[in-house]
Amino acid sequence: MNSTNTPTPLTLALSKGRIFDETLPLLNETGIEVLENPETSRKLILPTSQPGLQIIIVRATDVPTYVQYGAAHIGIAGKDVLYEHMEHHPGGLYQPVDLNIARCRMSVAVPHDFDYHNAVHQGARLRIATKYVRATREHFAKKGVYIDLIKLYGSMELAPLVGLADAIVDLVSTGTTLKANHLTEVEQIASISSRLIINQAALKTRQAELQPLMNALMRAAVPPKTAV
Ligand code: ATP
Ligand code: MG
Repeated sequence: MNSTNTPTPLTLALSKGRIFDETLPLLNETGIEVLENPETSRKLILPTSQPGLQIIIVRATDVPTYVQYGAAHIGIAGKDVLYEHMEHHPGGLYQPVDLNIARCRMSVAVPHDFDYHNAVHQGARLRIATKYVRATREHFAKKGVYIDLIKLYGSMELAPLVGLADAIVDLVSTGTTLKANHLTEVEQIASISSRLIINQAALKTRQAELQPLMNALMRAAVPPKTAV
């Protein structure tokens, strides 16, 4: 209850683009319509056909933060984003189910003329540009390859083209962006899809409202597929 004694609506955090687009059919299947289109509306809080449920639109990397602090009770986030978030913020998030939406893979990519496997074999030190520092650090540590990590916030494909890095670690779905930038995928690090995340405290305090939504989303979830 807030100060005026009206219950705050249940809040679902989503990012615009892929995750919103692929969550919409799941919500529709559970009988929930979103009443504004985030691509055309400037609103960041979107009402739904269910008066007790609203959607907030935040950056993909911010979804776990909103849910962890309880500003949103529930959210949907990629495993890529969750893995990086959990390194510095373990706990506070319950992750009941993989919704198998927004699927892609996290891969190493290099310019067409760079012999990655040979460089690794020779024990070369590699400069890797990425937004996914934890996943990248752990992947190369496991391989026993020394790297210089260059943290970027976007457009990783550019880094090898202008000599900032030898390779990138990025998300790939069709490979079109890599190809357009003369890059080749040389190693897959992980399969990525999006998970439902729930604020641990809300799970107890808002259980009566959360449980039906969680159950409905789990039922609507896309069945798992084998490798992308
Ligand atoms: P922003 O576009 O705001 O800088 P972002 O690129 O992380 O952030 P999106 O492009 O909306 O945000 O991607 C959100 C999520 O979609 C990713 O975290 C990932 O889990 C998933 N995803 C699926 N396929 C891809 C892909 N080919 N490229 C990027 N993300 C993808
Ligand atoms: Mg993007």
